[in-house]
Amino acid sequence: MTVTDHSTATAPARPGTRPPRGGRSNGQWKVDGTEPLNGNETWKQEDNGLNVRERIEQIYSRDGFDSIPTQDLSGRFRWWGLYTQRKPGIDGGRTAQLSDDELSDRYFMLRVRSDGQALTPERLRVLGGISTDFARDSADITDRQNIQYHWVGIEDVPEIWRRLEAVGLQTTEACGDTPRGFLGSPVAGVAADEIIDPTPVILRITEKYLGDLDLSNLPRKFKTAITGHPSLDVVHEINDISLVGVVHPELGPGFDLWVGGGLSTSPRLAERIGVFVSEDDAVDVWHGVISIFRDYGYRRLRNKARLKFLLAEWGPAKFREVLETEYLGHPLPDGPPPAPATGPGDHVGVHLQKDGNYYVGAAPTVGRISGTLLTRLGDLVEAYGASAVRLTAHQKLVVLDVPAERVDDFVAELEGLGLTAKPSPFRRTTMACTGIEYCKLAIVETKQTATDAIAELETRLADLVEDGSLDAPILLNINGCPNSCARIQTADIGLKGQLVTVDGEQVPGFQVHLGGGLASVGRDQAGLGRTVRGLKVTADDLPDYVERVVRTFAKQREQGETFA
Ligand code: SF4
Repeated sequence: MTVTDHSTATAPARPGTRPPRGGRSNGQWKVDGTEPLNGNETWKQEDNGLNVRERIEQIYSRDGFDSIPTQDLSGRFRWWGLYTQRKPGIDGGRTAQLSDDELSDRYFMLRVRSDGQALTPERLRVLGGISTDFARDSADITDRQNIQYHWVGIEDVPEIWRRLEAVGLQTTEACGDTPRGFLGSPVAGVAADEIIDPTPVILRITEKYLGDLDLSNLPRKFKTAITGHPSLDVVHEINDISLVGVVHPELGPGFDLWVGGGLSTSPRLAERIGVFVSEDDAVDVWHGVISIFRDYGYRRLRNKARLKFLLAEWGPAKFREVLETEYLGHPLPDGPPPAPATGPGDHVGVHLQKDGNYYVGAAPTVGRISGTLLTRLGDLVEAYGASAVRLTAHQKLVVLDVPAERVDDFVAELEGLGLTAKPSPFRRTTMACTGIEYCKLAIVETKQTATDAIAELETRLADLVEDGSLDAPILLNINGCPNSCARIQTADIGLKGQLVTVDGEQVPGFQVHLGGGLASVGRDQAGLGRTVRGLKVTADDLPDYVERVVRTFAKQREQGETFA
């Protein structure tokens, strides 16, 4: 049976990513054997990253930071969500000159995965308490629905795990060459217009396969996104695997399979494989795709190892054939593509649920919150009889099950916590990565730069918001280095941190990318933003630059035209 692809929601993927050279071993286990071809592959094979937990609990937390050997500290710790953070006071000009050891502080960033789960008041209070007790009240919501702490000392890690696991949360495989935190629809199970609830599939996969030794030495990280909401709210085009809710004309609701997306320095959009995945098949299909990556992924060079490089060489047809014949043992039906997104997918604002309650999407500024705030939020959710909070793929949050008669008061109380459900266009859409405050790869500061820019733009461009010229949101994404943790290539205005020269002096600034967008954030066509040759702005000039671009856009745009 063939289902015609009538989608206007997605553009063909860019051919972009060049696979590694042929004619030599590229470290594909099923083709070349498992002989390690570089240092990373060697230590991963010698001792699986998951094994480090026992040493953390038995030795390092007791004997202290200096007892941790380098390969555990800079390698295996990631399998449990731990990275050393950047030493304070090292400027961006020295990032490339110093070794990891010289850049590293004696404290850790610790990432807690949420996997699209509902964070109940109890969970929120546990997350908040860990932050205030062990992480100097730090907490960020990441664009992969994680909570990220800073200032964590090794001696406190076992107690943090104990508290998290007591409420069903974990840091297992939150970083490293593993199945990292899943993106799940923040409105799963409650939205009135949902096609299919992805929660059972996510739970079945994470319960069965997180911490599975067979899937914990992948060529690189592996990102998963699953949604059944028609706003396509999990940025499915830039994950290694995505399952996106669709309705098959004969088989009913299920998922469309996308594979091989990823950004970083070689960005590539995912491609549809063309199959319909029923809820019953979803766990096996996910397992098949990640197993293909484990077995056929390129392990010679880490910068050519993501699944997108394999897909660039194979193409979707071969990928499907290998999945069906070698991994599933049966063919999958053809399936339809997702319909165009019904909204921006950030769920900001107040929305009626299918049961008559409301969900409320609110915007912290660039994902920065605190432990104190998490605890207060837990108390507020409980006091109003709401059920839980989910995190979004846009560094925002959604409160679920707010009773209809209490919505207005609840929104006002949220506002009092600094979590507005009616953010300005800039507060709503701006994202920023961790940046130089904590990240060892960073060249420039990001969170505070973005926060200051948002405040400036809210004042300077208030006239455009008031007269309605800015009815199309403009996505402003800010990165602290050439990596793409804040997805610069998919923003209207993407800013890549680097030093720029002004009057012979190097100062923090950004290379500008313009015109990116994803169908999953409401654009007609998915596409990667283009670098504007030679266009760089200093961090100080950022508000001026964005104001000029936005005013020009507002003046020249045709009705209904988006920035992209
Ligand atoms: Fe760090 Fe660069 Fe990622 Fe920002 S984009 S968090 S600076 S690696």
